[in-house]
Amino acid sequence: MPGLDTQVDDRERVEQDHPIFVIQKHAAKTLHYDFRLEVDGVLKSWTVPKGPSLSPEEKRLAVPTEDHPIEYAEFEGVIPEGSYGAGAVLVWDRGTYRNLTERRGEKTGVAEGLRQGHVSFWLDGTKIRGGYALTRFRTGKNEAWLLVKKNDDEADPGRNPVVSEPRSVISGRTIEEIEAEEGDR
Ligand code: MN
Repeated sequence: MPGLDTQVDDRERVEQDHPIFVIQKHAAKTLHYDFRLEVDGVLKSWTVPKGPSLSPEEKRLAVPTEDHPIEYAEFEGVIPEGSYGAGAVLVWDRGTYRNLTERRGEKTGVAEGLRQGHVSFWLDGTKIRGGYALTRFRTGKNEAWLLVKKNDDEADPGRNPVVSEPRSVISGRTIEEIEAEEGDR
């Protein structure tokens, strides 16, 4: 069926052109946000203690963590006691992104940018939109990056969605509601 083939081709192209990002709010031992970008079939991941900012003046620490499978972008619920990262997780924001990384004026792939220590991208989420950069400032055992909003039309220092928009974008629940509904029963 030629029609079916066309559909599959279109979907594959869309997935390539529009990789996903997700930001999960995670009430583990310490509350934090996990920022994840789809790169080459996995979710490259950073722990951002304070979550993303809409102010270009605010540099947010982002500590790399292990890659996660793409399916994990959908995960919302409670990681049980005794497991790594025990605590409630909610999908705080999600959407697609466009790679804007350049190196010496040349377009650079995200994977290559990550190896080089700098990527730049446009996020199209529900709460978070606009350009951001992730830049490595320390390598080795204590590798660390900074997540910074670009100074574009979507910058809005007066808005702080980490505080004003705490609920899940997929279920509308708060972390406390997820804990109450899905915690040890
Ligand atoms: Mn986490």
